[in-house]
Formats: sequence, structure tokens, C-alpha cells
Amino acid sequence: MNFLKADETILANYKPYNGLMLINGEFCDSVSRARVDRIGPAHGIVVGNYPDGSREDVDLAISSARRAFDKGDWSSLSGKERADILLKVADGIAARVEEMAMIECLETGKPLTQARGEVSGCVDLWRYAASLARTLHGESYNSLGDATLGVVIRQPVGVVSMITPWNFPIWILSQKLPFALAAGCTAIIKPSEFTNGTTLMLGEILQQAGLPRGVVNIVTGLGDKVGGPMVTHEHVDMISFTGSTRVGRHIAAEAGRQLKKVSLELGGKNPQIIFPDCDWEAAVDAVVFGVYFNAGECCNSGSRILVHKEIADTFVRAVVEKARQVPVGDPLHPEVKVGAIINNNQLNTIEQAIKTAREKGAEVLLGGKRITTDKGIFLEPTIVSKVKPDMDIAREEVFGPVLSVLTFDDKDQAISIANDTCYGLSAAVWSKDIDICLEAARKIHAGTVWVNTFLDGFAELPFGGFKQSGLGRELGKHAVEDYTEQKTIQLHSGSRTNWWLKNGK
Ligand code: NAD
Repeated sequence: MNFLKADETILANYKPYNGLMLINGEFCDSVSRARVDRIGPAHGIVVGNYPDGSREDVDLAISSARRAFDKGDWSSLSGKERADILLKVADGIAARVEEMAMIECLETGKPLTQARGEVSGCVDLWRYAASLARTLHGESYNSLGDATLGVVIRQPVGVVSMITPWNFPIWILSQKLPFALAAGCTAIIKPSEFTNGTTLMLGEILQQAGLPRGVVNIVTGLGDKVGGPMVTHEHVDMISFTGSTRVGRHIAAEAGRQLKKVSLELGGKNPQIIFPDCDWEAAVDAVVFGVYFNAGECCNSGSRILVHKEIADTFVRAVVEKARQVPVGDPLHPEVKVGAIINNNQLNTIEQAIKTAREKGAEVLLGGKRITTDKGIFLEPTIVSKVKPDMDIAREEVFGPVLSVLTFDDKDQAISIANDTCYGLSAAVWSKDIDICLEAARKIHAGTVWVNTFLDGFAELPFGGFKQSGLGRELGKHAVEDYTEQKTIQLHSGSRTNWWLKNGK
């Protein structure tokens, strides 16, 4: 396999990013002053250095967010005033795309070209949220009789804890934060301990944009030490979490104890269903892109294909040929499409999934082995065939560049296999028959079904999962409403007379 190496001067000129947390409008170290290095998974060198936060830092950050919500003026600003700041943040991100993309690339191991796309895509999310800040509205009812006007207003839910994963750090945060800010909430954020860089840079941008003190607070550190208290703290009103279904279940249970509002974006095992009459060339491209984008470390990864038996051999051969051509290598190389795996634990998990599948009778058609480089953590793009619906590799998220191939006899069986996992994040249907496409789109249990395309996303379209892929939706025109409570106000005119004991009776 051809492994592309990058120009060595790029790294030689790179200076590790020394980030600081943001609490109450000040950039600071953790109370303990402990710091940790992030070793980049593609190069094995220190790419960033960050405060190792703990409960004390979380307490300070939550007090600050609480004060900013209860005593500050953020939630009482007009939508336009909040929108103006969100637009400045969007401009601030646009001005730092290169710098943010570089740290995102080095910390995640994803290609720099893709990191650029991720960071610049966030600009649109902040702008979209700004537009929603100005149109957030309630309802009024004048159908309740002449004496009553019913008014339903929306108020910000309060202090929101946001906990994010490592695969698309700045994009996932931008699916949450601008919408919560548009609603008038304040926030405390914990990025993944593997990818603090872009979140802390965003903290700098927020301050420069003039966000009032304490409205956004960022604490870095480990999941249980920092994320744990962010969930259970009594002054937090809502938790917005993106990450694994395992941690999501734990967070939902903790939130349930205090009946806190919770939004969860979790894992997926997303099928692409291939019917014989589809546009083969497009479907082959979509399968290869769908599973290897972000090295398969993607909640929406098209990690299994269900192919009609009639075409299975030929179609899969075409996918294998295409997959062989995918450029793998140093994510700083401009041609590379598949970079490094996030860490050694994840690599071991992926390898174990492939080994177990083999032991159960699956066959590795392509890849399956780690790529030995000086210091990086890489796996060959992999295709596993002869996968049966009851195997773990057909049902569980692998979170790596591994495609599982299953076959089906007819439409009903395809839909049934597609639905036979605990997840329901996304799916795709490939066919030129509109009846097949519509029926599958209606019957598949997933938050998004793509028809003859894959992995497109738009700020206007809601995103989230059925079943154990999550709770709630992000993006779309209701995204700001998720960070609000409804309040009913009844206005009475004149003097009401129909009380108990009126005139002593
Ligand atoms: P993870 O669940 O291990 O960690 C996510 C975040 O939770 C991290 O910040 C981590 O430090 C924190 N955390 C861990 N334990 C915690 C605890 N006990 N209390 C509070 N916080 C805790 O997930 P990951 O490995 O970072 O990310 C990969 C997972 O994220 C995959 O399962 C993927 O499908 C999912 N994901 C889902 C979406 C989506 O939108 N549906 C998007 C991206 C990633």
C-alpha cells in the first residue's frame, strides 16, 4: 500500500499550542496548575499542551455561568444584539481557519484539507444561529374568549453543560453553542481530552467578539473528573452531550436523577442499501467516501452496506477496486484522504472487531492491518464481506475505516436488516425507483435517510437519532427552541366574577 508522506518542513515550523481555559471571562490554568501534553496520533509529537482540570475548576466555571445567567444581561438582550455578537464570532472563525484547521488536523489525525472544510463549515452554523436569534418567537391565542389573551413565550433554559467528542470537535460544538447563545443561555463546555485545541481557540474568539464575562466557560480535562460534575451539578439546567452511546446512557441516567433537560447525539451503525437499478458509479463512490471519510471515525459513517444478491459480487468488486485507490498517509499531505486513528486504544478496538468478525466466518477482502510508520497510528482501509446480520461487526459501531458487506434478497429483507440494530442515526437508499426509495425512507428507523446521496448536511435540516442514537435534534429552524422553556401567560381584562363563594354563596 502506498503511504503518502508530507513535506517535513510543515511540522518543523509548527509550534505546539499552549491553551488556557476560560472561566468568568479570564483565560486561566486549572486550580491545581496541572497540565498535560497532547501527542498527535499521526506524528507522535507534542502538538498541544492543556490544563488538566478537576472538580474545583468545574465549580468555578458553573458559578460563573450561573451568575452570568441570573445577574448578567445576556438573556435580556434583544435577539438582534445577541445575533450581532454571533456574527462577529463567525467572522472570527473565518479569520482563523488555517490556524484552527492545523490544530484540528494534528490532534485528530484527520487530513488538513478536511479539517479546513470542517472549520470553515462552522462559520455558516454561527451565521444561521444568528438568524434564528432574531426570529425566535412564541405564540398568542385570542380564541379564548373576549376577556382572555393567551401568550406563550420562550425563555432560555438557563445554564447548559456541553460535552463534546474528539472526531469533529469544533463542528460538533458549533451545532450546540451558537444556538444556546441565540436563546440567551449561558454555557460551560468540556471538549474531549484528546482535542482541546479548537475549542480553546474559539474561547479566544468569543472574548474578542465581546461576549459578556461568564457567558461561556471552558474547562479541559478527563470525562469522569470534569464531565461528571458538569452533569450532576445542581446549578446546571440542561446537558447537551455528543459522544458514545455508552457514556450517553450514563449521562441520561444521572440527568434523570435530577430530572434535568438532556439532549444526546450518540453512535450509529448506518446502512447504505444498494438496489440493482441504481447509478452504480455514484453508489460506489458514495460507499467508499461514506465509510472512509474521517477514517470512519464518524457517527454517520456508512459502516455497512446491504447489497442486493443479484449484483453483490460485481458491485463489491468495484468498491474494493475504488477503495484500493484511496490515498492514505500523513494528514498534512494535500492528497491524503485517510489519515491517522485517534489513539492506540481505538486502533486496538478496531483490530479486535475485525478479528472477532473473522472468527465468526467473515472474510477480509481488503486491508485489515495496521500500517507501520515511525510514530503514527494508522490502519489500512478495510472491507469485510460474508457478514451476517447477527455478527457484532454488523450491529456495533467500529469507529474506524472498516466496511461491512451484507447481502439481501428483496426490499423487505433489506429494510428489516437495516433496522436490526440498537442504533438509528442515518441510512441511505440507492435506486432509481421512486417507490422503493420512498418506502425505504419511510420505513427505516433513522433520523436522516439520504436517497441517492450520502453525508450531505445543511444547517436548515434537523440532525439526530432514533433509538439509541440519541434524544432530541440539533440544527434546523427549531434548534434554538431546544434551549428554551415555554411559559404560558394568561392576560385577563375586566373583572372576573365566576369565583367560588362569590357574594357569600
Ligand atoms: P465518548 O463518549 O468516549 O466521550 C465523549 C465526551 O464525553 C468526551 O468529552 C469525554 O471526555 C466525555 N466523558 C467521558 N466519560 C464521561 C462521564 N462519565 N461523564 C461525563 N462526560 C464524560 O466519545 P468519543 O470517543 O469522544 O467520541 C466517539 C463517539 O461519539 C462515537 O460513539 C460517535 O458515534 C459519537 N458521536 C456522535 C455524534 C452524533 O452527532 N450523533 C457525533 C460525533 C460523535
